[in-house]
Amino acid sequence: MKDRTRLVTAGRNPRQQHGIVNPPLYRASTVLFPTLDALEGARPGEGVYYGRYGTPTTFALEEALSEIEGEGARSVALGSGKAAIVMTLLALLEPGDHLLMVDSVYHPTRACCDKLLKRLGIETTYYDPRIGAGIETLMREETRVVFLESPGSLTFEVQDTPAITEAARRRGIVSVLDNTWGTALLFKGLERGVDVVIQAATKYVGGHADLMMGVVSAREPVWERLRQAIDQFGAPASPDDCWLALRGLRTLGVRLRQHQDAGLRVAEWLAGRPEVAEVLHPALPSFPDHELWKRDFAGASGLFGFVLRPCTRAGLAAMLDGLELFGMGYSWGGYESLLIPTHPAKVRTATRWDVDGQTMRIHIGLEDPDDLIADLDAGLARLHA
Ligand SMILES: *Cc1c(COP(=O)(O)O)cnc(C)c1O
Repeated sequence: MKDRTRLVTAGRNPRQQHGIVNPPLYRASTVLFPTLDALEGARPGEGVYYGRYGTPTTFALEEALSEIEGEGARSVALGSGKAAIVMTLLALLEPGDHLLMVDSVYHPTRACCDKLLKRLGIETTYYDPRIGAGIETLMREETRVVFLESPGSLTFEVQDTPAITEAARRRGIVSVLDNTWGTALLFKGLERGVDVVIQAATKYVGGHADLMMGVVSAREPVWERLRQAIDQFGAPASPDDCWLALRGLRTLGVRLRQHQDAGLRVAEWLAGRPEVAEVLHPALPSFPDHELWKRDFAGASGLFGFVLRPCTRAGLAAMLDGLELFGMGYSWGGYESLLIPTHPAKVRTATRWDVDGQTMRIHIGLEDPDDLIADLDAGLARLHA
């Protein structure tokens, strides 16, 4: 079966639900057992046990996501993408361990390394997202995890994931990928050698700017170790959010295709504007990592960056404050378009972000791209007015 078909069929069984198409929303804390034998024989992780371990709604979502992630994957849904990242790192690392973290990582992940992990005696080395097989030179005796995020947050470098995971596997180091940008539809992490794939389902899986969720997917032998440690946090995604995420998942394929097509149109339009110095979009042939993206990805999503030529803050404010269709706010992946200025140079330590001008992050939603371009056109006219 192809992914687009799986998105429709996975995680539901109408015949067990009175013929109703969608799995019902089960909320629960207590689960009753009919006999002493059943009570004493039940185990968490094997069917319905107690609300904290999930309800049939949670399991339906986790099963569907696992099926799309690929053969043998198991998944757990947690309260946010950030929670999924932090719990995974805490599950895999101990005091004295060393972590290799990509320099273009989502900033709250960096904050976890610099604060929480540091306090626990776990050392982080940041590496160049374009390091490829050269990652080997940074691996030490105590290195336990190499963390990737591709394309990188804000700057969109595409990593050579197969080369990095291959180097990690040779040394018994666990590789973890934040795959939020592409989802399993555009990049199959486990098939590319990644041991643990994380995504903020808050973004494209939810797709409607109305839920927070993180998902961790892995295969054996890493899965069981991960699941047991994550269980210790006792912080599952709520069944209500799982139900919404399952609903979002059904349309992920068509939404992503639309985000991609409209995103590329806007990216190409921006690239031709005199106010724009550079467009940071892996699907543009001018982008430095374009060939890697073409080799490894099945498409592009609707999130990318661009660099405005130097402008005043007043000009930038005039441009952004007057936009009618683009909102300013964090997160992305919903049906609505967003545009914010970003500051990658401030947070990097292993590499430099050296551009002359203002870096921006743009999310292209499901509006008609003609209208989005008209809104941006008027905005750029205000930039130097
Ligand atoms: C948004 C985001 C996260 C965090 O997800 P939340 O659900 O907001 O906690 C993690 N990684 C990336 C790449 C993101 O864009």
